[in-house]
Amino acid sequence: MPKKIRNCRGCGRAVFFHEDVFKLEPQYIATYFVGAGAEVPTWKRFPLQLLECQGCHLVQLWHTVDRELLFRDYWYRSSISQTMRDHLQRLAEEATELAELVPGDRIVDIGANDGTLLSYFPPVMRKVAYEPSQFALSLPPEIEVHREFFPEACMAWPGPPRLITAIATFYSVEEPQGFLKSAHAVLAQDGLLCIEVADWPKLMRMGAFDTICHEHLFYFSLGSLVELARSCHFEPITVRFTPLNGASLRVYFQLEGGPRSPEVDFDSLISQERLVTPPWSVFTGRAQTVCDEVLEFLLEKQVQGVPVSLLGASTKGNVFLQAAGIHHGLVLEAEERDQRKWGLKTLGTGIPIVPEGTGETTVKLVMPWHFLPEIVEREMDFLTRGGEIVCSLPTFRRITIENWKEKAASFKLELAHAS
Ligand SMILES: [Zn+2]
Repeated sequence: MPKKIRNCRGCGRAVFFHEDVFKLEPQYIATYFVGAGAEVPTWKRFPLQLLECQGCHLVQLWHTVDRELLFRDYWYRSSISQTMRDHLQRLAEEATELAELVPGDRIVDIGANDGTLLSYFPPVMRKVAYEPSQFALSLPPEIEVHREFFPEACMAWPGPPRLITAIATFYSVEEPQGFLKSAHAVLAQDGLLCIEVADWPKLMRMGAFDTICHEHLFYFSLGSLVELARSCHFEPITVRFTPLNGASLRVYFQLEGGPRSPEVDFDSLISQERLVTPPWSVFTGRAQTVCDEVLEFLLEKQVQGVPVSLLGASTKGNVFLQAAGIHHGLVLEAEERDQRKWGLKTLGTGIPIVPEGTGETTVKLVMPWHFLPEIVEREMDFLTRGGEIVCSLPTFRRITIENWKEKAASFKLELAHAS
């Protein structure tokens, strides 16, 4: 069984709000796919109940699923999407400039995945990857690879890193204080720590409950992230809000008392953030509406005898399908780019996964909705043939060849407005 926490993973206090905080019914682990050749490490459903710490307001899962189950065999690959590759390339350029990196500097990427981010730093840098999954085995030889969770028991490097990155990693760390203290111990005096996580207050405003999964132990706001880092003697320097994965925030930290002056007034930003964070009841209502809209649409298509497929077999999608009760009876199949998933099925909902572009339906429901503009471009032939693309979040959209420009533009605006 997963462990149930008694104390806040951030500040250690033992007082939580949980009565009115959002919860999903127990789910299968959303990062798995099932079928011949894909061994599923567990066939159990685990709780997905959120808590909010009454002390530091850090939103987190009540239960911790064993990280060995979550991360040793991993499906998500950063390089699979152009949007993600572009995002990581810009991040590498920005971090190089902010950290004033010079040839020979050491960069440590924690949760390096398939090495996409590190690939965008020039080869003259010394690159170190922490990656516990099978991706560690295929990283290029110029990268010093630690197939470990950070921090490992013994870290001995010939020189301190001037940049540590943790992109879409930090919200999965069981002991964030231990992580920050280790990062503090190894980072160069003038180095930077860059942490990027989902921006929970903005995702709450959208109703994006499909961000909640066993892998994400934390649902950070700018306020809760900064408070946690400050408690471990890091000082925030600057922040970027991006529409990645719906809404993300990226904060650069230096060691307390470091050489840089903060570029933004963090306390003022945090006060503003509190003002626009919706109450739990509003989020719960919005999440229910999102599920109802999609389910109603699918039932209508079923009555009409029009088969619907999914676009993308993703983690977010698996959360959504399980929460909304969408199964193989309601959708025919899921089209997917990643060939490792072809021939498999979604866990718990039994939807067969086929190669992208081979589906035969005239209606497709997008699962990784945050990639909508990229997906619409890829599906232009399908739209031209009279196909329809449906997207659940942040607002229910039905996209055809007649309205795609307007719908894609309004989607971008909605995300830009939120972030
Ligand atoms: Zn706390």
